[in-house]
This record gives sequence, structure tokens and C-alpha cells, in this order.
Amino acid sequence: MKSRGRMQIGSKGEALVISGPIDESSRLLELLDRSRDGRLVLDLGGVTFINSLGVRDWIRMQAAAQRAGIAIELHRVAEPVIHQLNMIIATRGARVASFFAPYACDRCGREDSLLIDAIAHARALAQLSPPTMPCAECGADMAFNDFPERYFSFLSV
Ligand SMILES: [Zn+2]
Repeated sequence: MKSRGRMQIGSKGEALVISGPIDESSRLLELLDRSRDGRLVLDLGGVTFINSLGVRDWIRMQAAAQRAGIAIELHRVAEPVIHQLNMIIATRGARVASFFAPYACDRCGREDSLLIDAIAHARALAQLSPPTMPCAECGADMAFNDFPERYFSFLSV
């Protein structure tokens, strides 16, 4: 089996920057020790993968945070994490400030994972109409490239 490496933790401003795979070696509960003033801000832009044991620990971390009165805020949530939030309702509960979503350009065919501000676009997302984004290749409007009712289901907690 090819090694996927381990989850890395960095920091940027008030956020802990998580990257790599989330699995049984990730010790997610220990992240709560690094909360400040009842808040834990996680930047999940670099998460590449989350397996079932990582999901189990994620749910435990959220339950422990709730008991301890710690609010978890998620920034730049990568697509693999969004898929888990969509599939397993128990993984939801943290506030999602921004997340990545698949986009495609009709004009040049470019596909990209683009960052959506979930707070600025909250109303449009609730109506399942994600914003268009400029294509980095040709400048045309890129359109969201998945099923909105599936991809944005994590937003209904
Ligand atoms: Zn384009």
C-alpha cells in the first residue's frame, strides 16, 4: 500500500492550517487544546483525503467541542471534506465560512476547484444557485459543475 503521509498542522493568523490526509493517526481531538476564547478556526484547504476512521474522530472532536462550549469554524474546506459532510450528517455542525467547489468553463473547457465565500453568498447558496466565477484561463464565466442539491446539502444543518 502506498503511504499517504500524515496530516500536517500549521498556522496562519488565528487559523490552524490542516493539510494532507485525515485518518486514524490525525489526533483530531488534540486540536481542541489549541482553541482560543471558545473558538477553534480550522483552514482545511489542504486536506487531500479523509477515511472512515478520520470521519469517526471528526465526529468525536465535534461532540467534545460541543460539550466544552467550543465553536468550530471551518475555512477553505476542500472538496474531499465537503463530500464527507454531505454523506454523513453527524459530521456537520461546525460553521463553514468558505469552501471549495468544482467549476467548469464552457468556453475553454478548464475545470477548477474554486473558493466560495459561504457567508457572502449564503442566500444564493440556500437557493442552490452558486455564484459564477471568472475563468483563470480565458476570463469567461465558469459555472458550478456538480449537482447543487447534492453538493450544498452540507449547508443545511
Ligand atoms: Zn475558460
